[in-house]
Parts: sequence; structure tokens; C-alpha cells
Amino acid sequence: MSGYFKDIYDGIATAMVGMKITWGHLFTKSVTIQYPDVKHDIPERVRNRLYVNMDDCIGCDQCAKVCPVNCITIETAKSLPTEDLGETSTGNKKKLWVTKFDIDIGKCCYCGLCVFPCPTYCIFMTDVFEFSEYKREDLIYKFATLTEEEAAEKTANAVRQKQEQEEKKKAALEAKKKAEEESKAAEKQKPETGENEGADQKAPTT
Ligand code: SF4
Ligand code: SF4
Repeated sequence: MSGYFKDIYDGIATAMVGMKITWGHLFTKSVTIQYPDVKHDIPERVRNRLYVNMDDCIGCDQCAKVCPVNCITIETAKSLPTEDLGETSTGNKKKLWVTKFDIDIGKCCYCGLCVFPCPTYCIFMTDVFEFSEYKREDLIYKFATLTEEEAAEKTANAVRQKQEQEEKKKAALEAKKKAEEESKAAEKQKPETGENEGADQKAPTT
């Protein structure tokens, strides 16, 4: 019987200890926050999601070259002489159409190495850190501003322009070669003509 009352006493005493702790916390400063409604301040130079300002991108590929995990894919097409792509805000002349600029953020290790070599400061880390997705492919960010059709057209123009330049170069080389051959042939003929002329002049004296 005494054990029965002891158990009741222990139960009440234990509950009171718990309640004491609970009530004590009601009057102390909270160490937790109501995330996501309330968020911690994050450091100024934090490395989170990348962003590319395509207005300033010149398609130089420097960022992709330094990426240790190859998560940046850039494709470009040379602009035609008749196309003026303008300048970046840093004064760099834009000569290439950026037909593809993908960052697979699922592979990114947030090293920040891509940010430093950019000559126009257009790729940078933002303070956005909440970007989970249900599908893996949704983590591939596409920054290129051209539509698929426009990109295909710019690429086709660049290919055609390159072909035309190569054909012109080939024709110029052939013309040069032909001119050299003709010049050599003319050089060969000169001495023979001279000898004949000499022989003709000597003939009347004999
Ligand atoms: S932060 Fe590092 S891993 Fe991520 S894209 Fe830039 S270079 Fe690649
Ligand atoms: S380094 Fe900068 S300018 Fe060059 S391709 Fe990358 S984002 Fe564009």
C-alpha cells in the first residue's frame, strides 16, 4: 500500500519538476525563431544561389572554365558585322550572342570561383538560400535571354558567316598561288627572249 502512495507522490513530484522548467522558460529570452516567418540576418559576403545579369554578359566563358565541377554551360554565336550588340555597363563591347547559359545549381559547391574572373561583374552570389525543388531538372537555371528559335537563328548565321569567311580565305590563297605561278612562268620566259634577241642582232654582221 505504501508503494502505491509513493508512486503517486513520485508522479506528482516529477510533473512539478517538469512544470517548473516549463514555467521558468516562459520568462526567459527565447533562443529560437519562428522560421520561416522570421529569419536570421545573414553575413554580407554569404555564398548562396548564383545569379547572372545577362545584360552585362559578354559570353567570354571565363566563369565556366574555372568551375571545378563543370556546372556552368555556355554556348555563344558570333554576331554579324551588321549587328550591334552594344556595350555592357562596364564599357565592354558585346560581340557574341549568348545562346545558352545554364547553371546546374544542384552540382554547385558554392566555392564562388566563377565570380572573380568575370570581367563585367555580372555573375554573383545572392542572399537567396531557399530554393529546394521536387524535380532535379528544375535546379538547372537557364539565364540565356534568347528564345530557342532566336538562338538557332544566331547560331546558323554564325556558321554561315564562318563558311563564307573560309571560302573567301581559300579563294584569296588560290588567287595568290596562281599569281605566283604566273609570275614564275614569266620569269622563266625572260632569259629565252633575251638570247633570241641577241642572236637576231648578230645575224646581219656575218
Ligand atoms: S560557385 Fe563554384 S561550383 Fe558553383 S558555379 Fe561557381 S565555380 Fe562552379
Ligand atoms: S565570366 Fe562573366 S561575362 Fe564571361 S561568360 Fe561568365 S558571366 Fe558572362
